[in-house]
Amino acid sequence: MVEMHKLNKSYGTFHVLKDVDLEVKSGEVVVLIGASGSGKSTLIRCVNGLEHYGDGRLAVDGIELAPSIDGFGTSRKELAGIRREVGMVFQHFNLFPHKTALENVMLAPIRVRKVPRAKAEESARKLLARVGLGDHVNKYPAQLSGGQQQRVAIARSLAMEPKLMLFDEPTSALDPEMVGEVLEVMRELARSGMTMMIVTHEMGFAREVADRVIYIDHGRVLEEGPPSAIFDHPQHERTQSFLSRVL
Ligand code: ATP
Ligand code: MG
Repeated sequence: MVEMHKLNKSYGTFHVLKDVDLEVKSGEVVVLIGASGSGKSTLIRCVNGLEHYGDGRLAVDGIELAPSIDGFGTSRKELAGIRREVGMVFQHFNLFPHKTALENVMLAPIRVRKVPRAKAEESARKLLARVGLGDHVNKYPAQLSGGQQQRVAIARSLAMEPKLMLFDEPTSALDPEMVGEVLEVMRELARSGMTMMIVTHEMGFAREVADRVIYIDHGRVLEEGPPSAIFDHPQHERTQSFLSRVL
């Protein structure tokens, strides 16, 4: 689903991603961990074209995302193709404040996928029920808790029927008592077979859902493997020291 080969990216003279090789297979759940500033968000944002990269190769579901050198890169058509297949959930949910939960979820399918309104509403209601918000469909974002808003954001992404879901610290802006309900929705999504790339500091959750954990250190993949290998037997001293700080 995702193939990254020797991907490099710089912000000006700052080399953020260094020869990143990474593959995510269909149905796989990959969790990225690493210190603040190590490049996790940048990496994940490259996958849906939110960031251009400098050189290397990146393909998502067989669509090549060209590197951008001097402003030349992937065409709008290719980008639109990828964005349609890749859902993304961020730390801040950015729901439309003047639309209800239901309208937030219905909007993109109607506008982008040209789904008829009645059909979009039916799917949106099902999705909101799936994330445990069946009783809150007519509420506005301000009337929902942070955890509920993040679950609306997940439902909104799922409404586009993505083949791949990216999560960038989806629970780190939430009050502690709301983290569990969002992780539960993600757990259910993982069980349903969704292909997922997740950046998180929730190590217990990572151990539970990840097929593979990747430790990013200063823009490089330093170590990767099944959760038991990374968490219980990290090979690198830097991975050990990172884990000793977060576990
Ligand atoms: P965190 O855990 O804090 O979210 P991260 O691993 O997601 O960190 P990134 O946000 O990918 O890290 O940032 C990687 C590095 O790139 C950091 O040093 C950051 O300061 C730098 N950086 C990120 N975005 C930009 C930008 N738009 N311009 C310049 N430098 C940037
Ligand atoms: Mg980040």
